[in-house]
Amino acid sequence: MIAVVRETASAEQLDQFVRWIEDRGFRTNVSQGANETIVGIIGDTTQIDPFLLESMDIVDRVQRVSEPFKLANRKFHPEDTVVDCGHGVLVGGGHFQVIAGPCSVEGDNLIGIARACKEAGATMLRGGAYKPRTSPYAYQGMGERGLDLLMEAGAELDMPVVTEIMDPRDVGAFLDRGVDVLQVGARNAQNFTLLKEVGKTQVPVLLKRGMSETIDELVMGAEYIMSEGNLNVMLCERGIRTFETRTRNTFDVNAIPVLHHLTHLPVIGDPSHATGYTRYVRPAAYAACAAGADGLEIEVHDCPSKAWSDGAQALTPSQFADAMRRLALIREAVTADVEEA
Ligand code: PEP
Ligand code: MN
Repeated sequence: MIAVVRETASAEQLDQFVRWIEDRGFRTNVSQGANETIVGIIGDTTQIDPFLLESMDIVDRVQRVSEPFKLANRKFHPEDTVVDCGHGVLVGGGHFQVIAGPCSVEGDNLIGIARACKEAGATMLRGGAYKPRTSPYAYQGMGERGLDLLMEAGAELDMPVVTEIMDPRDVGAFLDRGVDVLQVGARNAQNFTLLKEVGKTQVPVLLKRGMSETIDELVMGAEYIMSEGNLNVMLCERGIRTFETRTRNTFDVNAIPVLHHLTHLPVIGDPSHATGYTRYVRPAAYAACAAGADGLEIEVHDCPSKAWSDGAQALTPSQFADAMRRLALIREAVTADVEEA
């Protein structure tokens, strides 16, 4: 349930109103927008009489929110959330960023790849130190050494580092090193223990869509993180599993505007995992940008044929630079002020 507060309400009245609600055992979320202040009420709101709320001087109107997600819901927070990823990099609300780097951290080649990504215009560095592999015999990642290499590269290039966390027990190791963005991967999208644990931090989280997750389930994953207190959540469409076998996954481009409609969180498109093949990554990236994504996550490798994971979908630095030039043009078209007929 939300209560839209009258413009004339003072800060003190708002405070009293919030306390009145919380004294009755509900949680609140106050969203102070440019035009409206909205008090979101969370809990079993069937116990609240909307007419009683509406009779209060401070309240302009009351609306029930039927969706099970509250904190992530645009009705609770009409304005786009802007996530501060550190190093001056903001995502969402008009801030578009590209996260690039290898699938896995492999060693000393990381810094060269990172440099090429930055030169081409990437603003955030990715790389997996803990890899969720289908086979236990496949390369599992460098672990803590991989985190150190990422953080060194991020510090040298002044870029926030985005890297996947798989185990709630690793949160301390990620925090100690100052990892800028915790990526929760597709395979852990509904690992609620992990979601709650990253929700107890204030570190931005990039939450990927599970392979067979509906859009609503993805948003409920975000709600798990936010309900623990971490509101710095970015959603990522990375393709879903369908009957199609020509591509690794099916890129649900629809999800980008749908997520923007349902939530206020930034939405990132990942054309690399969505397609699985280098030749399709750039067209899918353009589609995501054109659909209004707030950013992209793209895998880049200096020598894809030698990559330890996901070489088949990696862009070379020059392919990535080409993509960045075209993305700049698409972004311009998407954000241009065009008069409506
Ligand atoms: C990755 O980003 O390397 C990754 C494993 O992605 P996903 O969880 O989307 O498969
Ligand atoms: Mn990968």
